[in-house]
Amino acid sequence: MNRYDVVVVGAGVAGCSSAYFLKEKGLKVLVLDRAGIAKVGGSSAAGAFVSPKIGKGSSLQTLTNEAFEFAKNFYLEHFPQHFKQTGVIRIPKDELDAESFVKYEEHDNSKRQWLDESSLSSIGIKKSKKSFLFDEAGVCDAPAMCEALLEGIAYAQYEVKSLSYEEGAWHVGNYSASKLILATGYENKFFDMRYMGVKGTWGTRGDYETALDLNVSMHKKISVSANIDGIVKIGATHEKGINTCIQCGEEPLKGLFSIASEMVDTSDFKLKKTFCGMRAGSKDYFPLVGSVIDVNEMLAQQPKLVRGERLKSEPKEIENLYVCNGLGGRGFVFAPLMGKMLAENIVEGKAIDERVNPQRLFLKWCRKSPDLER
Ligand SMILES: Cc1cc2nc3c(=O)[nH]c(=O)nc-3n(C[C@H](O)[C@H](O)[C@H](O)COP(=O)(O)OP(=O)(O)OC[C@H]3O[C@@H](n4cnc5c(N)ncnc54)[C@H](O)[C@@H]3O)c2cc1C
Repeated sequence: MNRYDVVVVGAGVAGCSSAYFLKEKGLKVLVLDRAGIAKVGGSSAAGAFVSPKIGKGSSLQTLTNEAFEFAKNFYLEHFPQHFKQTGVIRIPKDELDAESFVKYEEHDNSKRQWLDESSLSSIGIKKSKKSFLFDEAGVCDAPAMCEALLEGIAYAQYEVKSLSYEEGAWHVGNYSASKLILATGYENKFFDMRYMGVKGTWGTRGDYETALDLNVSMHKKISVSANIDGIVKIGATHEKGINTCIQCGEEPLKGLFSIASEMVDTSDFKLKKTFCGMRAGSKDYFPLVGSVIDVNEMLAQQPKLVRGERLKSEPKEIENLYVCNGLGGRGFVFAPLMGKMLAENIVEGKAIDERVNPQRLFLKWCRKSPDLER
């Protein structure tokens, strides 16, 4: 009864999206999380804004905007009750940023329009420079979305402390499966995955009760949501590190609230709940989706890799082990497309997009990382 095709460890948006697409392809999936579905970590704290990335046309911007198009359509089609298409306004941080916005325009294929200062002021946004409005963007209810993704999928609250692979199956406590996906966010203690360079960035969100008439979400230095059912969410990820209370101090929202007060009228805001959590980013800020290299085996087979030797063959992977991680500050933008890619790889053998395949980071880590002796 406890045998599955795939066990996914981690019920944040990465694990839930991977599980969703695997189930769609007919696999028997079990999701395990020590805390609950989107109860801790990035996926509990996220404001879960889903909007395009602006910039000068980097490949990360291109990928992010592909993921945005996919996520927005996916949420609207399958989970419209948990995705509110409020629109998101991107407001320049300062004069210099405002000049950059003009340059960003030519690199932006996402549907958007300019809003001038008087239009911004008419919708209640204080003293801001000419901004972009992405009216197809929106906000998810993060825990509700994760729970909805897992509908019809087996889930257990369980802390994974050890894993073993015997006779073609992964064993996790009483559970076993042919394949294992680690979607554990910033924590990665089971295998040597240092080459992926996963690091946590701490963030905070406050949900405020208010009667403010605000029907659009916005992002400047921080994010402020539209008023949805009497609640405005204020949030940002800001501290690199892993110790919650030290990073946030006694009053994690103090700084954010004062920035929000410069953006909109917060005079009747009453704090209802505070969330804190860590988001996991990769070394190069692209997601990490696909198989895991057997680092010990590779360094034993080719010890000169650390001194620049080329790979003599394809990197050896740990059998039937996968990750879905490194979604950075845009987990709710990336997760649906990344979950789909991973499911297509696992079920149909479709190659993982090179931009997100963690292998891209391996050789550089071997050659440059201070973790290794040369
Ligand atoms: C304050 C804040 C605001 C954010 N705002 C946005 C936003 O507006 N838009 C957006 O798209 N993204 C946003 N993000 C980023 C987004 O939240 C993350 O990218 C995303 O949640 C990462 O999801 P995940 O599933 O990879 O990790 P997580 O949500 O951290 O999930 C990892 C899970 O693994 C579980 N786990 C770990 N180890 C074990 C174990 N040994 N056994 C069992 N379970 C285990 C944990 O309990 C956890 O539930 C924000 C993040 C923060 C912190």
